This record gives sequence, structure tokens and C-alpha cells, in this order.
Amino acid sequence: MASQQDSLLNDFVSLFFPNTCVGCDEALPRGVRFVCPSCQLELPKTGNHKIEVPEFEQKLRNLIEFKHVLVYMHFHKQGIVQKLMHELKYNHKPEIGELLGRWYGAELADAGYQEEFDCVVPVPLHKSKLRKRGYNQSEGFAKGLAEALSAECLPDALIRNRANQTQTRKNRLERWENVERLFEPKEKGVLSARKVLLVDDVLTTGSTLLSCGEAVLRAKPASLSFGLIAAAR
Ligand SMILES: [Zn+2]
Repeated sequence: MASQQDSLLNDFVSLFFPNTCVGCDEALPRGVRFVCPSCQLELPKTGNHKIEVPEFEQKLRNLIEFKHVLVYMHFHKQGIVQKLMHELKYNHKPEIGELLGRWYGAELADAGYQEEFDCVVPVPLHKSKLRKRGYNQSEGFAKGLAEALSAECLPDALIRNRANQTQTRKNRLERWENVERLFEPKEKGVLSARKVLLVDDVLTTGSTLLSCGEAVLRAKPASLSFGLIAAAR
């Protein structure tokens, strides 16, 4: 009876707030959230767990020791990924991150990546920003990935010491120094000897991942890999 009431309520709510696809604005089939099946098929996936995309690796290569850089989708201005990122970050839809994490994690598990990681750690937000947004937009992605890869999600493994300073008009090295020691492991030992997948939403300059990755390496993991929802070439 309760479930019948729930579905009546859902029908009533969707009459006034139609549930539409973030990509194409068409009404979503019942039980489908955020992305319709045809937009899901058309997602601009990078597939870089199978075929390397050198532009992604080059942002981090020779700057930090890592195992994999895994990027789910290509970021294009005005494209579906930009719309998804906007909803995820600025429109109170943390569930989008979790959905994308589950989809990506299932693909990675199919390709044999399950053994590559035993914990998934999101890049933390500074507490002032966390308070303002109400959630860390990378945490849902970490959770979805961890679930699909049978790994542990550790959202509190790292802390962010201060809010990031503005990074415009700085060169790459200065930017890197600017964010150095921005992150610290919360407790000694929590990441030691573990195969860590550090995840963030979008890869841009790579400076945040470098700085956060350094904090993971100070905790002496077995390996460090990076996972991103999206990156621009
Ligand atoms: Zn659609």
C-alpha cells in the first residue's frame, strides 16, 4: 500500500515538475534519473582505460608518480558534460556524481580494473566551501565508483587546509607551489599500503590533483591512480 501511495505521489509531483533529461530536455521514462537512455548511449566517453589519450597523462607525467589516469568523458563547452557538471556543482544534484560513478565503475570493472584499487578518495573541499555548497561534488562520484569496483569509499581520508587562492596570471610552477601542502592525510596509516584511486570532477591544469596526490603519497600508499568525471583536451 505504501509503495502504491509513493507512486501516486511521484505521478502527482511529475505532473507539476516534469523529470527531464539534462542532455536533451525530453521527459524521462519512469524510474530513469537525469540522463535519458539515448543521451546515455551518446555520452562522449574517452575510453582511456583501453586506449591512452596522451593529453591527459601529459598533465601529470614527470610531476608525480602514479599508476593510472582514468577520465570518464571529454568536456566540451555547451555539451552534455558541461550541463551535467553544472547540475552537479551548482544545482544541488550530488546524485548525478553517484550515477556517473556507478556507470564508469561498471565499465572499469568489466575491463578488469577491480583489482587495481582498494579504496576511492574524493578530493576534499575546504570546510567553508563545503558549508556553502552543502556537499562535496566529487564524493558521490567516489561512492559510485567504489560501489561498482567493490572498493572502500574514504571521503574523510584527506583534509583541505585552506581555500584555494586565485590562480589566474600564474605560470604552471607557481600554480603548483601555490597549492602545495594544501591537502594533508587526516590520520597517519589510513591510506598506507593501499591501492588508492583519488577522484575529482574535472581535470583542468592538474594542479589540484598534483597537490592532493602529494598528500596521498605522504601517507605511503601501495599505489596512486587518478579518476576524473571529465577533462578537456
Ligand atoms: Zn536525453
